[in-house]
Amino acid sequence: MTIAVPSLVSTPTHCPYCGLQCAMNIARDSSATDQALTATVTGRSFPTNGGGLCQKGWTSAELLRNPNRLTAPLVRRDGELTPASWDTALDIVADGFAAAQAKGGRDAVAIFGGGGLTNEKAYQLGKFARVALRTSNIDYNGRFCMSSAAAAGGKAFGLDRGLPFPVADLGAARAILILGGNVAETMPPFVGHLATAADAGGLIVADPRRTATVERALAGGGVHLQLSPGTDLPLALGLLHLAVLDGRIDHNFVGARTEGFDDAWLAAAQWWPERTERVTGVPVSALRRTVEILWRAQQSDAGAYILTARGAEQHATGTDTVSAVINLALALGLPGRRGSGYGAITGQGNGQGGREHGQKADQLPGYRKITDPAARVHVAQVWGIDPAELPGPGKSAYELLESIGTPGGPSALMVHGANLAVSAPRAGHVVDRLSALDLLVVNDFLLSETAAMADVVLPVLQWAEEEGTMTSLEGRVLRRKAAVPAPEGPRSELEVLAGLARRLGQPAGRFGTDPEAVFEELRLASAGGVADYSGISYARLDEGAALHWPCPATPAGEPEHPGTPRLFLDRFETPNGRARFVAVEHRGPSEGTDAEFPLVATTGRVLAHYQSGAQTRRIDELVRAAGGMFVQVHPDTAHRVGLVEGQQAAVVSRRGRTEATVRCDDSMRLDTVFLPFHFAGSGRANLLTNPALDPTSGMPEFKACAVRLETIRQSTSDTEAMA
Ligand code: SF4
Repeated sequence: MTIAVPSLVSTPTHCPYCGLQCAMNIARDSSATDQALTATVTGRSFPTNGGGLCQKGWTSAELLRNPNRLTAPLVRRDGELTPASWDTALDIVADGFAAAQAKGGRDAVAIFGGGGLTNEKAYQLGKFARVALRTSNIDYNGRFCMSSAAAAGGKAFGLDRGLPFPVADLGAARAILILGGNVAETMPPFVGHLATAADAGGLIVADPRRTATVERALAGGGVHLQLSPGTDLPLALGLLHLAVLDGRIDHNFVGARTEGFDDAWLAAAQWWPERTERVTGVPVSALRRTVEILWRAQQSDAGAYILTARGAEQHATGTDTVSAVINLALALGLPGRRGSGYGAITGQGNGQGGREHGQKADQLPGYRKITDPAARVHVAQVWGIDPAELPGPGKSAYELLESIGTPGGPSALMVHGANLAVSAPRAGHVVDRLSALDLLVVNDFLLSETAAMADVVLPVLQWAEEEGTMTSLEGRVLRRKAAVPAPEGPRSELEVLAGLARRLGQPAGRFGTDPEAVFEELRLASAGGVADYSGISYARLDEGAALHWPCPATPAGEPEHPGTPRLFLDRFETPNGRARFVAVEHRGPSEGTDAEFPLVATTGRVLAHYQSGAQTRRIDELVRAAGGMFVQVHPDTAHRVGLVEGQQAAVVSRRGRTEATVRCDDSMRLDTVFLPFHFAGSGRANLLTNPALDPTSGMPEFKACAVRLETIRQSTSDTEAMA
């Protein structure tokens, strides 16, 4: 008997989803007709994931064989999306852009990017907007993710890199405080790095909910700071107050490596423990214990870390909140020393690289400011244009969407790697704005809710079908490899942009389609910038070099730069090398509760889904694991409005109404409900959320809005009465 042995080919790459960028191998049968059908994923040993993957990673190859994969461009004709040739679709888009700009000026065309795009695509998208379209209107969904942490990091340290140290450094710490992060569900392999702290009773989690991460902390004797949504800022002020009160300030560090402590203390001085308890809901004993745990670890050889994530950052006061947390970290003497630190946990797969190479409204490649004359000269030279041709800064993501259809606002929009109809705040209003466009173009590989609204849909390749680089949450640049052959039909976004640029009159060759060639250009554009990639190459990455930026090129004949896994050990990136305390005040959530809307809704993720769910809602195993849309609520709160476990409820805010199944949980605060934001249609959490923006970062207030709960019957009869 002959046993057919499939010819297996295994390719090392990284997960398509979150910022942890777990390493994996994709094996396929190279003798099979459709090799995507045979693709299987296994975890690969790597410092961030230790060979582990979460359920999302394990099942990620399922999408490669999804029957609903888009394989041809779609063009709306007589109201229906119908297949078209690439030439036809690109002609329609280019003509539409030209017509919009002829009528409304350069900014009449807008570009919306994504934090999941490779560095090469993010770079090319920024260049396309500034050079081919010369529009200032470009921003991306990372604005909804990391912008507050980035702004606060820049203020304090002079540089924003989510984690200024390798993730694996956390593994030695005896104390870790996480504010607003549920890593046990969002990136489970990350939890392995918390084990030492958790087992020592040193894991402290600030979260309105008793999440899986909180459970891990409590299992080891750690602390749950169950604060009211939107009170992370006064919590941090109160912790700083206690640190001063209890003599837990590292005066040597503060004196030698920082500035501005006195003003920060003046702000924190008003947050005596009892006041902090009253506003946040966190008992004084837990506050005091938190400071003590962090201080003892800092004083030991083991060290301590403070981390923030979206729960603390996605507020209209997000930047100030992170500043308050960094103030606490600086006062305890954590940042800029080996074995301790402060960091922000990146959410999206390339949330880090995506904000460094020019798809953000105010940035040019290399994390340069678009308003900096020297940066404009440098980048314009790489792009072969006059610096005067470069537009200025554009609007932040929500402001851009809000301006659609208004005088002077965009009438054409092209979206890459974002599902705004589900993920944007006040999503019902954003859908209305998208409907007001003359031309909506969406690049995607599945018909997302936003793509379904488009005038033109351009089918693009998936992560495992093309080459590129990603930058993980620790600032390490990673190679993403083509692991399966690309199917007939879809094209890389690099090809899409090149095709459009040619039609818009750009010289042939200005927009390359080879990822490595684009990366080579990115290296030049980033050289000398904050995020300097000029010493990084595909060849070095393929050899396995662990290269964290900044990694500048070195003169010929000299050793190559080893990269910078740990920032700030000698100096911070401020002009005088000192980290800056930033004095901040508590303002509270933009929207208060009242008799009509007595509860606070907060949103977040569940284990089996990623972001808007556009991808993970297509994977049966994940759909079965996650179930449908739900609202998590204390049973007493549910009972008060006549709701019980399993019943359908309406959650209503001043902006909209969503429907969800009641999940009662007696660990919930009585004043808080939780909604996952992965679901579409009438189950969209973002129909409720408040687009009030952080004045510095442009971050919307996703994490706190006033709502009420209703039974569906009551809600329907209200609607009928109103009609
Ligand atoms: Fe790792 Fe995140 Fe992918 Fe899960 S989703 S496997 S945690 S990179």
